[in-house]
Amino acid sequence: MTFVHVDIHQITHTCPADPQPHPVDTRRTIVATVDGGPCRNPITIRCGDKTATIDCGRHEPHDRQCPACRTIVIERQITSTFVGHEGTQHPTTGIAA
Ligand SMILES: [Zn+2]
Ligand SMILES: [Zn+2]
Repeated sequence: MTFVHVDIHQITHTCPADPQPHPVDTRRTIVATVDGGPCRNPITIRCGDKTATIDCGRHEPHDRQCPACRTIVIERQITSTFVGHEGTQHPTTGIAA
């Protein structure tokens, strides 16, 4: 298993749509990764007359990856900042995390 520890920081506000504080933006910061070790099910791909071996985690969907390649996200700490009442509607376009 590859463990990824993340800190989550939420921006909360109140607005006309919901007077209760609620998150409008969530940012994740990777604070640590613990490598799961070498791939146990490497995949050989052929490109022209060359072959290459890649980790299954780079090729297969999550549920077909070997145990070493699977990624577990651990939410280590959740903090939030309350930015107060905002009169505008939610931002609809995601702010890149
Ligand atoms: Zn809102
Ligand atoms: Zn693998």
